[in-house]
Amino acid sequence: MNTRFTGNFTQQEAIPEAGIEAALAVLRHGRLHRYNTAAGEISEVALLEQEFAAFTGARFALAVASGGYALGCALRAVGVKPGDRVLTNAFTLAPVPGAIAAVGAVPVFVGVTEGLVIDLEDLAARADQADVLMLSHMRGHLCDMDRLMAICDGAGITVIEDCAHTMGAGWNGIPSGRHGTVGCYSTQTYKHMNSGEGGLLVTDDEEIAARAVMLSGSYMLYERHLAAPGPEAFESIKYDTPNVSGRMDNLRAAILRPQLAALPDQVARWNVRYGAVEQGLRGTPGLSVIERPEPERYVGSSIQFLLLDWAPEAVQAVLRRCAARGVELKWFGGAEPTGFTSRYDSWRYAPSEALPASDRILRGILDMRLPLTFSVEDCRLIASIIRDEVGAVYQAQ
Ligand SMILES: *Cc1c(COP(=O)(O)O)cnc(C)c1O
Repeated sequence: MNTRFTGNFTQQEAIPEAGIEAALAVLRHGRLHRYNTAAGEISEVALLEQEFAAFTGARFALAVASGGYALGCALRAVGVKPGDRVLTNAFTLAPVPGAIAAVGAVPVFVGVTEGLVIDLEDLAARADQADVLMLSHMRGHLCDMDRLMAICDGAGITVIEDCAHTMGAGWNGIPSGRHGTVGCYSTQTYKHMNSGEGGLLVTDDEEIAARAVMLSGSYMLYERHLAAPGPEAFESIKYDTPNVSGRMDNLRAAILRPQLAALPDQVARWNVRYGAVEQGLRGTPGLSVIERPEPERYVGSSIQFLLLDWAPEAVQAVLRRCAARGVELKWFGGAEPTGFTSRYDSWRYAPSEALPASDRILRGILDMRLPLTFSVEDCRLIASIIRDEVGAVYQAQ
């Protein structure tokens, strides 16, 4: 059997018709800037913020130019200063340490477990090294958030959550982004809602919300927000909070609002696809699927598995053989960063000590996107191709 998969791993679905209609309306009236409104008009951005606050159950929400901007804005808003140390995941994507470096702070990396989440033992051991944790729910895997919050609350650590892969997910019934002080999300094309570029930030903290709004570039127009604190919250911060422009515009918000309404259905569609791949991979000799903890509500927009303790050449052989049959796997264990896969030791602007236990895991992580343009049948085929090729290489080892 040598069937080939012909789908495209980077092809997302089209923007829903309601989003296209709303975008055309914005283009036709021309008021793209969020504060450019006609008399009595409420901007698309303000409405998106109000709807996203309701979706997450947060008091305040702010829409911004990108997920990375939301992370940097959150760091500034909670008071991180140049030279401060910020704990973060060793297993994450480059915008996370990048956001820390962009405010002049220094990332301190915390290891990863075989469940692909932050190592809570390692976090507890490093808890005295920083006052802030930027927690990345990398590839949608949520750690035991109750334990993480107990560790951080006990050590006085402020938690900022990077929910780029967990919009719509949750832990023990609490939406992802709502355990920490600030939750940050991305609406970049490859995430769970697609506006090309874009980001959102949520918090219940009045002062942090007010600072974030000022930082995002509100000038003194903060009263035009529907999901921000009242004007009194801005009195004490408006003179000493710099404007670091990074607003969202009405065109993006118009595209996003119908996608937010459809998100719960989309999550269900992702998880059917994820389940099909997971089921097809389970039991493959030499391959470990990542078991999802019972309290985790995840969004299966990508899937990971481990080829733990495999020789690098054998992993490369799997990558090559799968690619030859149209299945694009990404490997976090390569010596050189390629595409979106880089590792804590690739970020040389942020020197780190070696994390041998994490290195072992990182060397075994394979990753694959599951766009909603794939059918469930496609997912079954992909899993059977991976199963064949992993099996062939494993037997030859
Ligand atoms: C995409 C991503 C970001 C940043 O989002 P952008 O909108 O691309 O700036 C942050 N963290 C992770 C884990 C991401 O995948």
